[in-house]
Amino acid sequence: MLGQLVYDRLEQAAQFSRPGPGVTRLFLSAEHKQVAILIKEWMEQAGLETEMDATGNIVGRDEKARNGAPTLIMGSHQDTVVSGGKYDGMLGVALPITVVGDLYKRKIDLPFGIEIVAFGDEEGTRFQSTLVGSRALAGTFDPAALDAMDDNGVTVRTALQDFGCTPDSIPSLKRSRKNTLGFLEVHIEQGPVLEGRNLPVGIVTALTGIERHRVVIKGKASHAGTTPMDHRQDALLAAADIVHKVNQVCRETEGMVGVVGKLEVSPNAVNVIPDSVDLTIELRAPERAVRVNGRGAILSALGGIAQNRAVAINADQTYEAEGVPCADWMMNGLEAAITQHNIRPLRLFSGAGHDGLAMHDLCDIGMLFVRCKDGLSHHPDEAITAEDADIAAQVLATYLQNLAQFCSKLAG
Ligand SMILES: [Zn+2]
Repeated sequence: MLGQLVYDRLEQAAQFSRPGPGVTRLFLSAEHKQVAILIKEWMEQAGLETEMDATGNIVGRDEKARNGAPTLIMGSHQDTVVSGGKYDGMLGVALPITVVGDLYKRKIDLPFGIEIVAFGDEEGTRFQSTLVGSRALAGTFDPAALDAMDDNGVTVRTALQDFGCTPDSIPSLKRSRKNTLGFLEVHIEQGPVLEGRNLPVGIVTALTGIERHRVVIKGKASHAGTTPMDHRQDALLAAADIVHKVNQVCRETEGMVGVVGKLEVSPNAVNVIPDSVDLTIELRAPERAVRVNGRGAILSALGGIAQNRAVAINADQTYEAEGVPCADWMMNGLEAAITQHNIRPLRLFSGAGHDGLAMHDLCDIGMLFVRCKDGLSHHPDEAITAEDADIAAQVLATYLQNLAQFCSKLAG
């Protein structure tokens, strides 16, 4: 069973971790170096030629890719959060390598090149920068990111050099738009949807767009014992209204999630009415229009809340990143492959960011989600089953063999 081999490989890779609970494997760390050797071994066993590139990506290419044929790039990230799991990222490295190796072993020829990449850095755990490897491939890498520092004051540039990489040659990593068919990532869902529907895999429709707001509420501090209840300008009460409003709008809006994740209450004392609250609102939706409507519903409610609670409320948008859609031809191809394996093809969006956000600047992207236990990730208990890995492997093998009929770059 191919899934068992994928599963065993993930166990092997998980050994390369900083001591402590779960898997901790940071960008350009000793563990990154060790797992790179293992990944290269897998790639070589699959018949790919390997290299470590200027950003610490481990790259494997078949002969067609090396000779400049139209190429499908697959892969995911090798790095983890602190005390993360064995599957986030590494599944999307081990699984396509194993599938491609098996196709070659069975002498199945694909009419396009294959490149598999284990990106160095997606989680952004060590440095403030993230997506270094995928941005390099897309040609959107900002050299200023080389100056980002880790907690010990080591810059990305120095860490790359110590790793044996040559940061100056990062611009040369840009892939050819013309020769790149697309980027496909296999990833655990990191949510409970597939498990809830009893499905092993699902088709990702888009990577979510994200926006954040800072909201400042000004009320009036006064004695918590002597101020009558109807004379209060309690900023925290207004904050509570906003928390509920965000939750209500998101629950009523299909395709959007949101949270008030951070509150700073002042003076934050047991016997004083709160006079100010600083809070954040984060909204995520794959479709811009949905997010903009949701934002409107929330922000337009602030005036009423302010009046009700006799406080002043100020909101500023601090961050916005557009969502990225997956390509129709890749979704359709995955749907056909999943259907061929007698599984109901479910489409769902990704509420988390992935390397596809950067790769989208280069080429069409697609993602296959794999069910994970309890929807849990970024946690030592993150888990999948060998059976699900096997289904995902079969779906991917079918997808690759069908690809020509869905890809206009190949069909044309
Ligand atoms: Zn991931």
